[in-house]
Amino acid sequence: MNAAVIPRRRFVALGAAVALQGCRRGGAAATPTPARAADLIVHGGTIHTGDAQRTVAAIAIAGDRIVDRGDARALRSTWQGRDTALLDLQGGSACPGLCDAHAHLVGLGRALATVDLRGAGSIDEVVARLRAGAPASGWVHGRGWDQNLWPGQAMPTHAALTAAFPDRPVWLRRVDGHAGWGNAALLAIAGVGPDTKAPAGGEILRDAAGQPTGVLVDAAMSLVTVPATTTDERRTQLLAAQQHALQRGLTGVHEMGIDADDDALYRELDRDQRLQLRVHAYASEGWLEGDLGVRDATAAARRYALVGVKLYADGALGSRGAALLADYDDRAGHRGLMQHRPAELTALVERAVRGGWQPATHAIGDAANRATLDAYAAVMTKDQRRTLRPRIEHCQVLAQSDLARFGELGVIASMQPTHATSDMAWVPARLGPERTQRAYAWRSLLLQHATLCFGSDFPVEQVDPTLGLYAAITRQDLAGAPKGGWLPEQRLSLDEALWCFTQGAAFAVQREHELGTLAPGMRADVTCFAGRLDDDDRRALATLPVRATIIDGGVAWQA
Ligand SMILES: [Zn+2]
Repeated sequence: MNAAVIPRRRFVALGAAVALQGCRRGGAAATPTPARAADLIVHGGTIHTGDAQRTVAAIAIAGDRIVDRGDARALRSTWQGRDTALLDLQGGSACPGLCDAHAHLVGLGRALATVDLRGAGSIDEVVARLRAGAPASGWVHGRGWDQNLWPGQAMPTHAALTAAFPDRPVWLRRVDGHAGWGNAALLAIAGVGPDTKAPAGGEILRDAAGQPTGVLVDAAMSLVTVPATTTDERRTQLLAAQQHALQRGLTGVHEMGIDADDDALYRELDRDQRLQLRVHAYASEGWLEGDLGVRDATAAARRYALVGVKLYADGALGSRGAALLADYDDRAGHRGLMQHRPAELTALVERAVRGGWQPATHAIGDAANRATLDAYAAVMTKDQRRTLRPRIEHCQVLAQSDLARFGELGVIASMQPTHATSDMAWVPARLGPERTQRAYAWRSLLLQHATLCFGSDFPVEQVDPTLGLYAAITRQDLAGAPKGGWLPEQRLSLDEALWCFTQGAAFAVQREHELGTLAPGMRADVTCFAGRLDDDDRRALATLPVRATIIDGGVAWQA
């Protein structure tokens, strides 16, 4: 890890982990005779520890903890008993369990039951995928369209969808989740006509004659009420999403913006020991404004904890809903949409803090980020910021003068490397050259002593954390474009990117004392790969096959 760019706090976290392992560091010679044999020994590859040790050849796990690490021979002679299971990496690698620090697992479950429109290159392709993937009757749900990938790049209209599905509602969410596209049946059910007024913070796109075109932006999407799924359907969807994440090597997620029903489902699955992923969840804004109440930090939990609230400051760049300090470069007079006036945002943060909840606020544009930093500075004392660790989700465009405030205020920057590589083709048009220099500025934030955690925002992006690692170190698409990377000075080293997906994520939920490194005393959350975890072959890193996913010492999934 390049020490020059590691913020001070990262050294503190590193120091704590080293202190915790104490005299065991240094290998087998110093290892005391164990009181019990290990339950599992992982060996036969390169194991990245995430701390000063860097790599070891083997780790021993007893119960839910790592008990030793070092040379494989010595470790096996000390810890291997009759019932010890062995996991041979066969020349592969392992690292501290990868955690997606901004994800929507409930949303992924829904998405897996929804037609995937990501990457569709035209409206015709969207219609073809719907015809192939939609259920035989009822609503047709789709997600992931992006008009920037189509000839002309214009927002779509309902015409093609209405022609293909004249009698059933079709409701297709944009790739960023900030706009929805429907057919005539959908507009009729939602009661959206020429006289319908868009709610505050939203927009109904219209043609020259004032007729709704079928696209609803941000808060206007709330005009559509999708029929509720049953609890059984939701449970099935959530378990399918969990399996999808485990297969891709995730040991944990920070679940953003759930409601009371989702929370109850998570608690049920956790109680029944069917929840394997480690889930730290954030309540939706609506729930906070309703009956969320006060956080009970003492509540016994196995894998699930509700720790904070997800607030919204603005929309997204793709649909020009991100709130900017100056006009969009490609739409004069338009600066995006703040979801709240500053006083409202401040009041929401205040309410969250009063309930003991960690605030995590979606802010993409520089105006939204400034308003959020202002709200945290105004509402939270220094002590509260240290204990609650407020976060900003996405932080995609930052004013130069706000970069240092993340570190100064102790605000965590929760960012998504694959957003940068998904958006890089059109961001310069939205922002112009000057602001683009401060877009998705991971390195600049690190240099200004911010703490970063990384995620994917799935199902907006794909779940695979290896794609995030690849994007973080290359700032290129999978074909290797652009050459040298987009704004390459913002790239991170592989160690730094791994830190953001492990220790950064653990720090963001106050678990850095037991999650994020592979050292004795830490929880045994481990991601194992069938190949080498290094940046010699970056393309190989992007598609590195997962061999096993270990959580609390238990093999939750293996190839
Ligand atoms: Zn999100």
